[in-house]
Amino acid sequence: MSDSKSISLDQFRKRKEKEAAEQYHFGKMVWLHCPKCETLEYTEIISPNGRLHNCGTLVNEQEIDLDLRAEITITEYNLTIIDGLLKKNSGFKLVKIISKSLDKALIALKASEEAYRERLQLAAGTVVPPYPEKIELLKDKLPIKDTNKLGLMVSEFRFEPEKRFNQFKSPRDK
Ligand SMILES: [Zn+2]
Repeated sequence: MSDSKSISLDQFRKRKEKEAAEQYHFGKMVWLHCPKCETLEYTEIISPNGRLHNCGTLVNEQEIDLDLRAEITITEYNLTIIDGLLKKNSGFKLVKIISKSLDKALIALKASEEAYRERLQLAAGTVVPPYPEKIELLKDKLPIKDTNKLGLMVSEFRFEPEKRFNQFKSPRDK
């Protein structure tokens, strides 16, 4: 055995760390559409035999394969943006009424991001850390479909879910 072929422990450890940092975590999430209530919700629970909405109607389902880790990375990023906005907003003392309603909107957004993160962790069945690279370096790797006015990223999974169901009627069409 030649020495040049043996890998040092340090190199081995570095390679393992790199592999772990790049590890995808594939899983499924499901979009649910109630044709009676015209509601859309997502869940991590797969139900091959279908399920009923709380109104008693059988819901339409779309199972989506995705990289849960990518979704978690986007959600963590969004949460830091929201926290930054909340902090910034608390500095605006003069426009109290506006800042109060903005605060409420931001808190609601934060709750919905946190709820999504929780569902993703449940779908993964374990705590999945976000990708460690800086977001700028990850942009090509992540399924980012849109960035909204606040700077929050919308992943492909959460982008216009109503378009996944051709039975969906927008309130305008009803
Ligand atoms: Zn319903």
